[in-house]
Amino acid sequence: MGAPDPVDQLLALDLAARGIAGFYRPGGARAAARSLARGRGMIVTTGFAVGPGMAETDGPPGAAVLGRALRLLGKSVAYVTDDVAAPLMEAALKALGEPVELVALPHAEAVDSARHRVGDIRPSHLVAIERPGRAADGRYWNARGESVGAWNGPLDGLFLKPPRGLTTIGIGDGGNEIGMGNVRSRFLRQGPLARKIASVVRVDHLVVAGVSNWGAYGVAAQLSILARQPLLHTAEEERKLVTACVQAGGVDGITRRRVPTVDGLPLETHMAVVELLRTLVDQRIRGGSRS
Ligand code: ZN
Ligand code: ZN
Repeated sequence: MGAPDPVDQLLALDLAARGIAGFYRPGGARAAARSLARGRGMIVTTGFAVGPGMAETDGPPGAAVLGRALRLLGKSVAYVTDDVAAPLMEAALKALGEPVELVALPHAEAVDSARHRVGDIRPSHLVAIERPGRAADGRYWNARGESVGAWNGPLDGLFLKPPRGLTTIGIGDGGNEIGMGNVRSRFLRQGPLARKIASVVRVDHLVVAGVSNWGAYGVAAQLSILARQPLLHTAEEERKLVTACVQAGGVDGITRRRVPTVDGLPLETHMAVVELLRTLVDQRIRGGSRS
């Protein structure tokens, strides 16, 4: 293969120093987009509570942006999360003026209810964005190595045994999310903390990014290039998304402060990444096909 895909180059930017170079998957966003473009309906799950009542700002903005892109392509999209992250997901969808097709699941019934929901919608794809994936010990861990199973329902169970014919996609940044089972052996090399938190949950297409939201934006960028139709949000909408999540009770997953930052990075950084992706999509759409 020739030059690296510029979407990959942006997603691989490790500004928050998560060490993703060790488990980055080139081509992941493009493969996910190609698969989604052929699908008809998607269930998107997100929401990561890093502590009690502390749903993080990484995840819901990405879910809303990717969900809108899919809806604009004519797919049906529903969102599933648990109680603690539901206000963030709702706020993110409203910030984009999107319909709130949201199922908020009480913790204990998470997987059963989600399975019912999947049965009703009969989706072609399950998409997880920054959603806890269980470790080898069956438990859920945050990036500090603290147990978070009390605040995050076992929605990853859907991905462990997906209904037949469903394609699964996982987007993450820390090794402990749904999908990271695909790169587990590489992630484990990062040391004892990685060995504790590494998820075993595999997916058909894994997208790794410096920030999970960026991974979702990267898939929306690849969908834009494939469809020759701009589907990304604007930098101003990024500001609205993150701010809305904080107003709905969200916290930064790294600093745990209730301020409009994501993974310890200022809002302007996220707006800049959106601008870079928009430029890239614009160039690709106008500059002839090289897909
Ligand atoms: Zn993460
Ligand atoms: Zn993150």
